[in-house]
Amino acid sequence: MTDIIVKNATVVTVNNKREILKDHSIAIENDRITEIGPANEMAQKFKGVKKEIEAVGKIVFPGFVNTHNHLFQTLLKGLGDDKVLSEWFTTMTAPSAKLLTEEAVYNAAMLGCLEGINSGTTTVLDYMYPHPVPNLSDSVIRAFKELQIRGIFGRGSVDTGIGIPQEIMQDPGTVEKDFIRLFETYHGSENGRIRIWLAPAAVWLATEEMLLTTWRLAQKYNTGFTIHISETPFDRQASAELHGQPDMEVLQKLRITGPNVLLVHCVYLTERDMRMARFYDMKVSHNPVSNMYLASGVAPIPRMIESGITVGIATDGAASNNTNDMLEVVRMTPLLHKVHTMDPTILTAAKVLEMATIDGARAIGLEAEIGSLETGKKADLFIYNPVLSARSIPMNNPVSTIVYSGSEKCVETVIIDGNILKEDSRLLVADEEKILQNAQKSADKLSVMAGTAKIKERPWQVLAF
Ligand SMILES: [Zn+2]
Repeated sequence: MTDIIVKNATVVTVNNKREILKDHSIAIENDRITEIGPANEMAQKFKGVKKEIEAVGKIVFPGFVNTHNHLFQTLLKGLGDDKVLSEWFTTMTAPSAKLLTEEAVYNAAMLGCLEGINSGTTTVLDYMYPHPVPNLSDSVIRAFKELQIRGIFGRGSVDTGIGIPQEIMQDPGTVEKDFIRLFETYHGSENGRIRIWLAPAAVWLATEEMLLTTWRLAQKYNTGFTIHISETPFDRQASAELHGQPDMEVLQKLRITGPNVLLVHCVYLTERDMRMARFYDMKVSHNPVSNMYLASGVAPIPRMIESGITVGIATDGAASNNTNDMLEVVRMTPLLHKVHTMDPTILTAAKVLEMATIDGARAIGLEAEIGSLETGKKADLFIYNPVLSARSIPMNNPVSTIVYSGSEKCVETVIIDGNILKEDSRLLVADEEKILQNAQKSADKLSVMAGTAKIKERPWQVLAF
C-alpha cells in the first residue's frame, strides 16, 4: 500500500542518466520509493493514497549527505574565529570537549541535526571525539533517533599527540570495548538508519596499536573507518615525527586501505597519495567552508575527481564553520575551486549536486540505498519551493538554483526513510523553538565552565527565553 504520493513535481533524480523529470509524481511505500512516473499516469494509478503532497511548481531533490561533522561543536559557534588551527584546538575546542555533559551533547546534536534538516540534509556522519564521561556518544545517537535523521556515528579515538588534554585520550582497549557496545546496541537500529563506524582522529593522534585496533574492528564488523588526513602541513609533519612517515604513507604501511575508508580534508595530498586513494578506492570528504575558516588551504579536489576518486562534501563541525548548513557548502565548493584555479569551468553545478548526493552516498558506502531518486531506493528527499525566497527567483535551471541561489527558507518538506520530518516549512518531529532554547542554554553553560566566553560581560542578550 502506497503511503505517500508527491504529486506534479519536477524531479531532479541524480540517477545514472542524471534525468530531470517534469510533471512527475513519486510514490512512497514504507521507507522506499516504489515508483516515479508522469503525473497524469500516476494520478490514474494511485487513487486514495493516505498522504498526498502537492508539489506543482516545486522541485524534488535527493537529500544531501553531510559526510563529516562534529555535532557537539554546534555549541561552539563563534568562539574560534580568527585563530590558527593549533590555537583554535588548544584554547577553545579541547577545553570545551573535555567538559561535555550528556545534556550538552544532546542539545548540540539536536540543533546541529535540525540545521542540517533545514538545509536539505537527510544523512549526517558525526565524528565524536573521545570524552571523559562514559556513554556520551549515546546522546548524539538519541538526537539522531528523535529527529529521525539518517545518522552515522563515528566512534572517535585519540591516544597520543602534542597539546592534547589527557581527559580526551583513551587507550585502544577502552575504545574497542565501547565501540563493540555501541555497535551491538545501535548498528542497524531505527530501520537501519543508525550505523556505527570507527573514527581515529588523525594518524598523529593515534599510536600504531590504536590504528591497527580500530582498523581490525572496522574489518571484523564490516563497517566504515574515517580519519582526518593532511588537513594542514602540520598533520603530515607530526605523523612523520611519530610514525616516521606522513599520514597517507602510514596508512599504506599498516594496510589501512580499502573502499570503507573515508579520508577527511586531504588538503595536502600528494600525487602519490592520490594514486593510492584511487587504487584502493578510498573515499574523500571535502570540507571547503571549514578549510576557508581555518585557512587550512585548498584541497586538490578537481584533480581527485579527474583521477576517479569519490569525493563527498561536508560542513565539518560548527566550531570551524559556524553553521551546519549544507546549502552553503554546496555553494562554496565550486566557488572556491573556480577562484583557486582561475578556471570557471573547473567544477560545474551539476557535479557539485552529485557530490552532495550520490557521491556522498558512495563515500559512506550507501549508494545502493540513497543519494538519488530512483525506484527501489530509500525515500530520502526534500521538496524545494523556490517562491519562498526572493533569492531563488527567477529559476532558470533547478540545479543552478539549488547550488548558487539556494535558501533554507525554500526547503519546505523533508522526508527521510519514508517519514515526513518537516512539512510546509514546519518541523513535525520535535519542537523547533525548544531545540534552540536548550542549545543556547547549554552553550552558555559550557562556555562559562570552559572559560571560552565571558557571559556576564556580554553587551547583548540572547533572546528572551
Ligand atoms: Zn573534523
